[in-house]
Amino acid sequence: MQLKLKAHAKINLTLKVLGKRSDGYHQLETIMQSLELHDELTIEQRKEGIELSVQGAVPAGRDNLAYRAAEVIKRYTRCSKGCFIYLVKRIPVAAGLAGGSTDAAAVLLGLNKLWDLGLTKQELLQLAEKLGADVPFCLWGGTALARGKGEELTPLPGAPEMGVVLVKPHFGVSTAEVYRGWAGACLGERPDTAAMIAALQQGSIAGIAKNLANDLEYVTLQMHPQLQEIKEAVKKAGADGVLMSGSGPTIFGLTDSEEQAREIAGRLKIPGARVIATATLS
Ligand code: ATP
Repeated sequence: MQLKLKAHAKINLTLKVLGKRSDGYHQLETIMQSLELHDELTIEQRKEGIELSVQGAVPAGRDNLAYRAAEVIKRYTRCSKGCFIYLVKRIPVAAGLAGGSTDAAAVLLGLNKLWDLGLTKQELLQLAEKLGADVPFCLWGGTALARGKGEELTPLPGAPEMGVVLVKPHFGVSTAEVYRGWAGACLGERPDTAAMIAALQQGSIAGIAKNLANDLEYVTLQMHPQLQEIKEAVKKAGADGVLMSGSGPTIFGLTDSEEQAREIAGRLKIPGARVIATATLS
């Protein structure tokens, strides 16, 4: 038996850091949105063991979050079956787009089905939480408010269909390093979560664009000042609103349609950067 799965990327429409917790994580309040852009996973049942093969620039063994997800669910259920996972990476890596987290979530959902484990939503969420802060959101995606480390999820009204232009510069950033650089102060505009939720409820692209804000943006922008130039270029090319996703360094621009996102992506000339046109996914 074989399963084919799409593991979707995400962006953060707002990201507010509320403080540092005693367990080393940060207390967050963030609105996450799934994108059409996805990795592809094929999972086949095997008699025993876990094997992962990857097309793309990420590790194929235990260091891969997809592999760790298979280990975690196998251990939890004491399942004796095995699997072969083939992962095709299309989401830029170390980009703030939850690439590894979404692969892990897809493996949890896929093996629950393939191995006929019957885990509940709650059990899957608990396993997801062990794997990383963004994994719980990636299990069901859509549009959601995440609190705590990211595991306390509240579904939100789906964002209207919007085009999204992504610009991933040639370098990646370490999420841990960006959080270390967060000093508690914020130079930019503070995210207004309630205003973003109201804009989502109204289905207003202008309202969503106006309320885009990320407390971590100034940290990553200080490390990589060229991100400011990228933001300006995306805005100038015609995006309604522009922001850095997660801990970065990907900059995204929202547009009224995917077609407009493609036009803007075609116009942007940013040396070394990967420019992708995609859309929101409800
Ligand atoms: P997030 O938005 O959740 O912080 P990210 O998009 O910033 O995630 P990832 O693409 O998940 O970052 O990559 C972070 C690190 O995880 C990289 O150094 C990469 O080598 C490693 N990694 C392990 N497994 C994967 C995977 N399946 N896909 C991508 N990266 C992976």
